[in-house]
Amino acid sequence: MTATDDKTIVREYFNATGFDRWRRIYGDGEVNKVQLDIRQGHQRTVDTVLDWLRSDGNTEGMTICDAGCGVGSLSIPMAEMGAKVFASDISEKMVGEAKERAQATLGQSENPVFTVQDLESLSGSYHTVICLDVLIHYPQDKAMDMITHLSQLAESRVLISFAPKTVFYDVLKKIGELFPGPSKTTRAYLHREADIVKALEANGWTIKRNAMTKTRFYFSRLLEAVK
Ligand code: SAH
Repeated sequence: MTATDDKTIVREYFNATGFDRWRRIYGDGEVNKVQLDIRQGHQRTVDTVLDWLRSDGNTEGMTICDAGCGVGSLSIPMAEMGAKVFASDISEKMVGEAKERAQATLGQSENPVFTVQDLESLSGSYHTVICLDVLIHYPQDKAMDMITHLSQLAESRVLISFAPKTVFYDVLKKIGELFPGPSKTTRAYLHREADIVKALEANGWTIKRNAMTKTRFYFSRLLEAVK
């Protein structure tokens, strides 16, 4: 399967059944137990990012690119913190939902700026580039190029999260416990931490912070890389 095929499948998924599933998981309405577990796990990753940004001081006016922003779970609180947020996602449905949520939270506002864009087509220069829980849609051989591209957009910092590939999670994934439920329509790619670190270091970054969020059904390792 080519990358283009993977991407088309991912886009179509997040414009259809994936949209229905994930907007609920990334929301606050009723969900099943598995989805609630994933919601809580994902929220911990978001909260860790917000904590790190805050503990580094003033985010007022800081330009942040949120690549693969989903429904804005991170973009919206970052805008509330005063950052200038450029949020984009390959799925127009996810972006549409993100815009509605931003309007409900922030009122009519030019911040965040939301666009429907494949992250490979993003350009410009941002203080910080963040890409949460998107690498799961990238096969290992595409991950390096993706990280190189994001690195070129970032002046000072990259934050990236991924589902870690370990023997244990690999086995879990194979027996189908990691991504349960009927909407298992896209392939899930796990990544070795060492590979992601290597890709970041090859682009001139140094790992500054590292956090792992692990619940029953949600696994995400978050890295912060700085110059
Ligand atoms: N980062 C968000 C959403 C994670 S869900 C958050 O943590 O809340 C994964 C998102 O990645 C989906 O919205 C999906 O549409 C998006 N995505 C997948 N591949 C992408 C690509 N190549 N370019 C841009 N967005 C992509």
